[in-house]
Amino acid sequence: ITDKIASLEKDEPFFSLEFFPPKTDSGMRNLYARLGRMSLLGPLFVTVTWGAGGTTSEKTTDLAVTCQQDLGLTTCMHLTCTNTPKSVIDEALAKAKNCGIKNILALRGDPARDSSVSHGIGEFEYAADLVRYIREEHGDYFCIGVAGYPEGHADGSFEELQQDPKKDLPYLVEKISAGADFIITQLFFDVEKFVQYEKMIRSQPELEKITIIPGLLPINGYNIFQRASKLSHASIPKKMLDEFPVEIQNDDDTVKEIGVDVLVKIIDEIYEKTDSRVKGIHFYTLNLEKSIAHIVNKSKYLAKVVAKKELELEDDTSSSDD
Ligand code: FAD
Repeated sequence: ITDKIASLEKDEPFFSLEFFPPKTDSGMRNLYARLGRMSLLGPLFVTVTWGAGGTTSEKTTDLAVTCQQDLGLTTCMHLTCTNTPKSVIDEALAKAKNCGIKNILALRGDPARDSSVSHGIGEFEYAADLVRYIREEHGDYFCIGVAGYPEGHADGSFEELQQDPKKDLPYLVEKISAGADFIITQLFFDVEKFVQYEKMIRSQPELEKITIIPGLLPINGYNIFQRASKLSHASIPKKMLDEFPVEIQNDDDTVKEIGVDVLVKIIDEIYEKTDSRVKGIHFYTLNLEKSIAHIVNKSKYLAKVVAKKELELEDDTSSSDD
């Protein structure tokens, strides 16, 4: 991933897409068809999520392998380490390597919802431990990403939540010093908070040049938007909330339409306020297709990515005609 980013022109934008493995075979088949269509938009890479404690390990690796091998997409497999036996991690890394997957998003994870086991039981306590382990076992084979939290990581029970990006900063430095190559952020809606976060990160000598990819969630429905913001502890600026008055909140089509414009504004503002230090946007797709297509086509920055991909496809077709 970092090699691909380095090969882009100075102001050339990119975007990436996150998917999760569906539970059923028919869900998986639908997603493959969707992935085929979404790859035509030109994502630089895709990522595949990992269920807490390795609960989706087989489905995650299968989906990641299909993305990499069958669809030819540069793929990044998420991997969490807390409450996960080392053997599961070793197996996932070996399978990824055998199938040509070269990118891992190294995460701590959270305890599975039905698990009474607390963090830290097992060989790894924090994401930095996993980054170190991957480097020890696999040298430079993998390009490693880690998570960042523009509004601070929320840990512990709801009453004792203490979100403060400054508190996480030394541990983010530790993850990068342990060998991580890039940061993908938790989703956010408040661009100002991201801009401050990016500044704070750049103030650390170890992080001055690190690739930061802001994570964004398309707004596909009012309730899901509210729920996602609560789950990820992402604040919603009042001005943005006002875009969704009560009378339209149950009208999914209108919410989606407004949501596209809201996201386009966020994206264009990120590019404008970070002076080409931020090159790409990561989308939490929730496996949904339509909003992403509208957003990337409407953003004046990301539309360039789609146009470039269309040209490549045209070139391919005309050379196969020749
Ligand atoms: P860490 O970086 O280890 O940090 C966790 C907490 O511990 C932070 O509060 C940090 O400040 C603190 N900390 C770190 N090191 C130390 C230390 N040495 N001493 C004391 N405190 C320390 N979860 C999944 O289950 N599957 C996924 O696929 C998944 N994908 C994600 C993708 C992205 C882009 C993001 C942002 C999150 C994702 N998550 C996923 C959620 C993630 O697993 C949780 O947010 C988890 O609670 C923290 O993981 P982390 O890797 O950020 O942890």
